[in-house]
Parts: sequence; structure tokens; C-alpha cells
Amino acid sequence: MPNTPAHSPVSVLGLGLMGTALASALIKAGHPTTVWNRTESKTGPLVAQGATPAATARDAVTAGGPGGPGGPVIVCLTTNDNVRALLEPEAEALAGRTVVNLTNGTPGQARELADWAAAHGITYIDGGIMAVPQMIATPGAYILYSGTDEAAFATHRETLSALADTKWVGTDPGLAALYDLSLLTGMYGMAMGVAQAFALTGSEGLDPRDFAPLLTDWVIAMVHGNVSGMAEGLATGQHVTDVSNLAMNREAFPNFTAAFAEQGLRTDLFDPFQDLLDRAVEQGHGADGFSRLATLLKQG
Ligand code: NDP
Repeated sequence: MPNTPAHSPVSVLGLGLMGTALASALIKAGHPTTVWNRTESKTGPLVAQGATPAATARDAVTAGGPGGPGGPVIVCLTTNDNVRALLEPEAEALAGRTVVNLTNGTPGQARELADWAAAHGITYIDGGIMAVPQMIATPGAYILYSGTDEAAFATHRETLSALADTKWVGTDPGLAALYDLSLLTGMYGMAMGVAQAFALTGSEGLDPRDFAPLLTDWVIAMVHGNVSGMAEGLATGQHVTDVSNLAMNREAFPNFTAAFAEQGLRTDLFDPFQDLLDRAVEQGHGADGFSRLATLLKQG
């Protein structure tokens, strides 16, 4: 296989569910792929697909000889603390290389890792994977990237596109994590609401499969109506609405927590939203729409 950018060698450290999917996609795309995992047995299926196993993380980082193969070192572990502990002893071996860290973490952790890398002559790119392992290398999956060295990202973009579509979000290394966590925050909010909705219908023994199509359509319609509308309100500072204002929602919301309690359900997922609505109206924002709420979430 020629050592063209399209088939540059890659090392993957961390072969959990996600790391295995990433390494497998790179192998399928024709990249000579060196793999390492703390629990060595997980390299087996990838070796069967054509990967080269590394006995140690150092071997994976230096695969291809002094200075390594020139391709990126992709890391995907459980947490960024694990990443730091793994990479710190390898700093010298990594000097001059590009580390692409696809471990989920906070913007602050990404910035700290970027600072550590810069102090050791390592190029650091942080990534946020917007996919489950089964979606890797399929349409619809994408990975967010950020880092101080956009040119390094451009160099490796073709290789990284074997994993999923690439979305560069900026030269602040924390931005990929910020976007990632913001998108997942929306997802968790939806999961909380859907869980409470199923609990409410379930309290009367309704079949969740009968309710699911109604709930799906409703949530999709509400997302379409609300997300862009909130963005517009936030961007322009024009929060006043003629659709569904906070004063009305504040008065209606006790019906929800009362219904939960009547039906023998916990109210604690939703109680904080009542507090937020109360605060918004008490601060004079009763005529505003939901976009106002995003401005009331700062600490202090
Ligand atoms: P897994 O639990 O399947 O794998 C975790 C990996 O981390 C394993 O390779 C494990 O090694 C390794 N590891 C943990 N601690 C250490 C350590 N101290 N030193 C060295 N290696 C360590 O998790 P996933 O693969 O699912 O997730 C990996 C990352 O990808 C996470 O940050 C996750 O948030 C992110 N992600 C996952 C998604 C998913 O749907 N799975 C979706 C998007 C992001 P060992 O095998 O030896 O235990």
C-alpha cells in the first residue's frame, strides 16, 4: 500500500467499543493501522482484519520507526484522566506527532491536554464523536474537531474522514467538547422529558408502543418550532413572543407536577423548571418566550 495521505499509517490507542469501531474503519479504508489496548485480548479481532498489534503504548506511538509513521495517533479511552496518565510517560516519543483525542471530556480538560501537548512539542487535536460505534463510517455520523493547529487538522483530514464526516469548529481546543456536550445536553433534556412522558402514560397502564408514535411526532414538531426560534431570540435579543409566553407557562406548569404527584410519580426532574419559570416572571420576563430562559442559567 503506498504511503500516500489517503493511506497514511495510523495508531489507535484504546480499543473499547468505540476505539474498535474506529480502528476497524481505518483498516477498511486501507490505512496501515497499529492498535494497542490495555487489555491486550481486545486487539484480536482487529488483527484478524489486518491491524498490527503493539505490545505497549510506546510501541504503538513509535510504530514505523523513529518519529513514528507521520500519521495521527488516535486515542479513545474512557476519560481524559486516563488519557493524561497514558500519554504523559510517552511525551518524548510523541514529540513532533499529532495526537487526535476522541475521548469524551470537558472543554477545560481539552484545553489542559492541549497545553500539556504544546509544552512537549506535540500537536493536539480534540474531537467529539457524534455517533455510536455502529454508526462509524456510515452516512450521518460526524466528528467535531478543534485545536490550535488548523493546518495539522487539514493534513490529517482525509485520514480522519475514514471514521465519519469531519466538522472543524475552531482553534480553541475546547470547542469540540463544548459543541459535543451542548448537543448531548439537548439530547439528555429530551430523554428526561420522554422518560417522564412514558412514566405518566404508564401510570395508567397505557401501552408505550401505542403512545410512541404520538410522542415522536410531537417532540419532532416542537424541536422544529423551538430550536430555531430560540436561536433567533438569543441572537437578536428580541425575546418577546406572541406564541407561548413565560407568564402563561408559569401558570400552567403546576398542572404537570400536580399530575405527576396525583399519578404516584416523582416530580423532581421537573421541579427545577418551575423554579426557572418563576424566576423569569419575577424578573419581569413574563411576555418573553423560551429563548429568555437560556439567558437565566448563569451561576451567581
Ligand atoms: P469502553 O468502555 O468500551 O472502552 C473504554 C476504553 O478505555 C477501553 O479500551 C479501556 O481499556 C480503556 N481504558 C480505560 N481506562 C484506561 C486506563 N486507565 N488506561 C488505559 N486504557 C484505559 O468505552 P467506549 O469505547 O464506548 O468509549 C470510549 C470513549 O468514546 C468515551 O470517552 C466515550 O464517552 C466516547 N464515546 C463513546 C460512544 C459510544 O456510543 N460508545 C459515543 C461517543 C463517544 P480496557 O479494554 O483495558 O478496559
